Amino acid sequence: MPTTAIIGGGFSGTLAAVNLTRFATTPQRVVIINSGSPFGRGTAYGTTRSEHLLNVAARNMSAFPDHPSHFFDWLRSRSEFDAIDDDTLRETFIPRRIFGDYVRGLAAHYLGTADPRSSVQCEVVEDSAVDVVPRGLSASGNQGGVVMLENGEPIEAESILLATGNQPPAGLPGASVLANDRRYCGNPWKDWHENLPSDDKHIVILGTGLTAVDVIVTLRNKGWCGKVTAISRNGMLPQRHFRGIEWPQVIPDDGQTRSLKELVRLIRQDCERLRGASQNPAIAVDKLRSRTQQLWKDLSLDERTLFLKKYSADWNVIRHRIAGPIHDAITDALDCGQLTITPATIQSLTAGEHGIEIQMVDREGSPKRIEGDLVINCTGPKSRFSDSALPLYRNLFDRGLAKPDAMDMGIAVADDFTVLDTNDAPVPFMRAIGPILKGTLWESIAVPELRQQAYLVARSILDQEPVAVSNLDTIEYCI
Ligand SMILES: Cc1cc2nc3c(=O)[nH]c(=O)nc-3n(C[C@H](O)[C@H](O)[C@H](O)COP(=O)(O)OP(=O)(O)OC[C@H]3O[C@@H](n4cnc5c(N)ncnc54)[C@H](O)[C@@H]3O)c2cc1C
Repeated sequence: MPTTAIIGGGFSGTLAAVNLTRFATTPQRVVIINSGSPFGRGTAYGTTRSEHLLNVAARNMSAFPDHPSHFFDWLRSRSEFDAIDDDTLRETFIPRRIFGDYVRGLAAHYLGTADPRSSVQCEVVEDSAVDVVPRGLSASGNQGGVVMLENGEPIEAESILLATGNQPPAGLPGASVLANDRRYCGNPWKDWHENLPSDDKHIVILGTGLTAVDVIVTLRNKGWCGKVTAISRNGMLPQRHFRGIEWPQVIPDDGQTRSLKELVRLIRQDCERLRGASQNPAIAVDKLRSRTQQLWKDLSLDERTLFLKKYSADWNVIRHRIAGPIHDAITDALDCGQLTITPATIQSLTAGEHGIEIQMVDREGSPKRIEGDLVINCTGPKSRFSDSALPLYRNLFDRGLAKPDAMDMGIAVADDFTVLDTNDAPVPFMRAIGPILKGTLWESIAVPELRQQAYLVARSILDQEPVAVSNLDTIEYCI
């Protein structure tokens, strides 16, 4: 019975296993190796806090590209949404923990032992994969590999899928010595809110993106009334989701490759047209969603680098928006003076007598310092892979079995998700999906893209024909 070992049991890895079960016509064994976040839920949907909402409307959170209303239909099975009409429920931003229940429910249904008709045997191993060792060629010409676990156990597999999600946050200068200091939290997804300082104290959040927003809404939900300062280089908070309008596609879908300069010109023109029509220019970015991966792939390396340097901060703020109720809470925190945003570049952290001191440089280049009674690192996942601290990637790179992508934002893969080795040759038994494809595809973080990857990669592992999957739902006006 061929074995597929899936490293990472968040949304991507779990849905790849679910799709293997859906499409397998011959007996298969699937082993999901997961550690770090809860199986099925991963980092995003492992939160236990009800105030953490999805940042994608319910209608677009189906786990299956071939069944776009699946999440909505599942929500309809829950009594707490009975009073909400269909149209409203489709546009609702559901608590992330409920989405985690949905994915775990799919895992229980498809991967559990309940269905004797299933030809797939699945097991979940709770451990870290630290290495992959290639095997010799079998008589059938299949090589496969051995996944090495932290506990020393090997798992032999004909196919290996890397679905390890984002890297943990990068450490900040000075933070390593604060590891045991209760006033510093290096991982915002841990239970920092169990030991809050008193309301007369000051909490400093490093970062102003989606993770910082999670922290702020939790503080408010817990009724914590002290002062909060959030620091980031650009000082920009995520924008609010809104319902857009019918709007023509600005980049002609004519198969032509366009330079970054040309794309910027067309998008800026589109933004102007939208402003002229009293519409939100973010619609220009929303409308590109189904094309973003191809546009990114068509850019040269220099153009991608320039995009990251010059435009990505604005792009991220426009593209990764937040639900209305979350935006209201943040606006209220700003209006009542509880929350201050400080645009500055963080230089280092030191433990002071009373709090954690943050040294930074403001926009004018002047040094500044601020002290927090609790400091939470919300700077987001580490993006560089070449100096990844994760043993799995260190070992894969050392063996030459994988390499960072050209942007150093993930690992290099071919169009069919096959991992590329140091010589750019495909490693036929190893594939990768999820946020580790960000450098290759740019738009490879959220469920609408990941469900397609999980579906396509399962078919590829089973050696089934790739099928066209609709992405119509991702291009609705409100993403
Ligand atoms: C806070 C947050 C909120 C988000 N909200 C949304 C949203 O509302 N809508 C949306 O579409 N997207 C959202 N996203 C994007 C999110 O990245 C994806 O939706 C999705 O959850 C990614 O799943 P994944 O399985 O690829 O990665 P992850 O969820 O990170 O799962 C990877 C799993 O693999 C484990 N792992 C890693 N390395 C190893 C190893 N060597 N051995 C064993 N296990 C390993 C990790 O610990 C983790 O459990 C959010 C992301 C975050 C961080």
